[in-house]
Amino acid sequence: MNTMTTEQKVNLLGLDREAMEAFFVELGEKPFRARQMLQWIHQNGVHDFEAMTNISKALRQRLMDIAEIRAPEVVMDQHSEDGTHKWLLRLDDGQCIETVFIPERDRGTLCISSQVGCALDCTFCSTARQGFNRNLSVAEIIGQLWVARQQLQPEIGKSRIVTNVVMMGMGEPLLNFDNAVSAMKLMLDDLGYGLSKRRVTLSTSGVVPAMDRLRDVLDVALAVSLHAPNDELRNELVPLNRKYPIAELMAACKRYLGAQSHRMRVTIEYVMLEGVNDQPEHARQLIRLLQDLPAKVNLIPFNPFPETRYKRSSPQAIQRFRDMLQAAGLNTITRKTRGDDIDAACGQLAGKVVDRSRRELHFARIEQGVSR
Ligand code: SAH
Repeated sequence: MNTMTTEQKVNLLGLDREAMEAFFVELGEKPFRARQMLQWIHQNGVHDFEAMTNISKALRQRLMDIAEIRAPEVVMDQHSEDGTHKWLLRLDDGQCIETVFIPERDRGTLCISSQVGCALDCTFCSTARQGFNRNLSVAEIIGQLWVARQQLQPEIGKSRIVTNVVMMGMGEPLLNFDNAVSAMKLMLDDLGYGLSKRRVTLSTSGVVPAMDRLRDVLDVALAVSLHAPNDELRNELVPLNRKYPIAELMAACKRYLGAQSHRMRVTIEYVMLEGVNDQPEHARQLIRLLQDLPAKVNLIPFNPFPETRYKRSSPQAIQRFRDMLQAAGLNTITRKTRGDDIDAACGQLAGKVVDRSRRELHFARIEQGVSR
């Protein structure tokens, strides 16, 4: 573990069970220390080695010298009338990401980010506007869940209030494969968050080879951002489609389901854009496309952002589309837009603060150029 230098402490928050065991074995400690540590961090939310009473004083001291437990810092907490929270979290290098918590009657869903920005450039998504900055580390991905539980605890009084996690924040999780997988392992681990694999969902715009890799290492629920029922339109909305067209994507979905021990369905996400992909003809094409894939369809009313060229489909158009899919036997729901008042809805996570500081930096450079 070459990160174990005194200048740079190992952040134990980012070690999954395997990595944690390797860490303690390298220290000459028994692997069961890893179990204790995982429980302290993820189940008890402890970040101070001093509080770890079942670990000897000598080992605690040693850990303080070489390791730390450090989560992203909350710089803003926006609370919506409907109970939705949006946190702006600052990372070590000063960049920011957003995490959203959506409470419902019978569950609490945390929507977490996997990258700062995104490289995929989907035309209807505001994250795309900021371009791609970097991948998040495992500690930064799982840290969002760690922070959310800490933040919600006083409010709700129950640490287990996050019952579901969706990798639907900023970024494409399958393009940050190893870190996303390690973080999801911690979500599923009994010593971590103990979430069932049905309650952890990875959402992808369709990175086909990585879907196959995922199938081989982890069994979580899969959501696919389809958004268009034919290649011509999807090429335009999700440019990644030019690389992995719909037929290949559908085949990858089937392979993914085929590998699962229990019967699940792929969630097909479909953003409703007025006059673009919401016509009866699109519904018919979608029905044909999904006829032999066990799927459920989530219709997402488009969430507008400044300077977008798209409009949200009318409630009538969404209803008509949904009725057509349902009449064809497709399980279809329309996703409620939540946290509208705080820009916390799908596709609106853009790290506004970062944008602003970048713009200021940009202006500063221009001024320097002018004065020179
Ligand atoms: N890159 C992954 C994870 C991000 S997902 C993916 O594409 O699946 C976030 C979800 O919100 C995706 O289904 C995305 O297509 C959708 N989305 C993006 N922008 C949106 C917008 N403006 N309105 C509604 N949904 C949007």
